[in-house]
Amino acid sequence: MTNLDDFARRASGGDLVRLVAGPDALDELPALAERLRTPGERVLLTDDVSKTAAGTDLLDWVAGLVGEARRVTVAASHAQVALDEATVEATAASVGTPGLLISVGSGTITDLGKVVAARTGAPLLAVQTAASVNGFADPLSVLVIGGAKRTKPSTWPSALVIDDRVIDAAPARLNRSGVGDAIAIWSAPADWYLACRLGLDGPFDDAVVRPVLDAVEHLADPDHEVARRALVDSLTVGGLVIGIADSTAPLSGSEHLVSHILDMTAMARGAEHDLHGAQVGAATVVCTALWQEVRESCRVFDLPWSALSYPDDLAERVRNTWAVLDPSGRLGEECLAAVERKVAAWDAADKSACDADRPALLETLFGYVGEPARSTDTLRHWGAPATFAELTPAVGRDQLAWTLSALPYMRDRLTLPDLLVMSDEWTPELIDRVIDRAGAPEATADGPLDG
Ligand SMILES: [Zn+2]
Repeated sequence: MTNLDDFARRASGGDLVRLVAGPDALDELPALAERLRTPGERVLLTDDVSKTAAGTDLLDWVAGLVGEARRVTVAASHAQVALDEATVEATAASVGTPGLLISVGSGTITDLGKVVAARTGAPLLAVQTAASVNGFADPLSVLVIGGAKRTKPSTWPSALVIDDRVIDAAPARLNRSGVGDAIAIWSAPADWYLACRLGLDGPFDDAVVRPVLDAVEHLADPDHEVARRALVDSLTVGGLVIGIADSTAPLSGSEHLVSHILDMTAMARGAEHDLHGAQVGAATVVCTALWQEVRESCRVFDLPWSALSYPDDLAERVRNTWAVLDPSGRLGEECLAAVERKVAAWDAADKSACDADRPALLETLFGYVGEPARSTDTLRHWGAPATFAELTPAVGRDQLAWTLSALPYMRDRLTLPDLLVMSDEWTPELIDRVIDRAGAPEATADGPLDG
């Protein structure tokens, strides 16, 4: 990877003024705190999960480097903070209007810091405590609105500090989760390419996803230094390209929808769910298997897409799907509003070019679909869960099948299951075959562990 710091400044239009990653990144904190500070107090935002690095309490370490700062600690439930409306409001009230906001945490605390910084205009100095998601170096935050996970614009951190000593001291499950989020690059660009070609997004640009495809190449390197650098780089570059594209779409396809729906299900039931990236990793195995299965056994790629439309009973399907989680209908209406935007975009789009040039379209598209076995091998290299049964808590086959069935009914972003709804092929039988295929991927000769 070329210089991350340069790339960060270009990607953010200068808003992310400094990205430090490496063995002694924390050492730059005193200078950064001085450089970014505006009049007003310094507030250190974190959660109540204890953090140590290099044998030291990390919060004390950071506080010693940035100078006197008032601490605002967000309570985590189930060891995770959920960014619902109440949490955001309460945190914003506690933080007030500081001269410098310093966040110390993983993805959720950083996302919260970005939301609060966007509201107050305070510069955000973000200390990344794990390589757990790709959402650090971007101007977006994942929030929970009306019970549904939504990615909303917030703001770039003014500086992002990623110290190898801190990353290596992070709980293993957090960094393993990052591996899962990183390998979404083997699934999401195919969905993005499809949506772009159909005129629902775009234009597609290989140059947006290529730096991430390059960065993940060494994710399963036997040398930990090389593999950790690949992990940090792929997640950081992933965030930056999301910022450049001003959309998560290049790195968030069906595999992310699966994770969002698992979160929504758990929240609705007051149950726990696994980390975002852990779910995304297992879902990447399934979603790459979906592309392969559809190519082998479905008609949809042979049909004229300009003749397809969403079924007449779509609204009923959306409401019925989410009524399972929220009998009040609130979640169903929230999702239906998003789905209706997708339908309107579909109806307005000119799909004729896709029908004229289908073989070339499919060849390019499948160039972005990874091998399920490579995803599995990469996750296993890090000890990350590669199947839904290995998630914590485990997701059973029935729940996975239901989650997959709900994919087209949640968001305004078109992915492959949307086309399958239109071709009347998004059936329990297809979903069964996909789960089977993902569960027992055939070994490939070109897996990263084989050479
Ligand atoms: Zn993600």
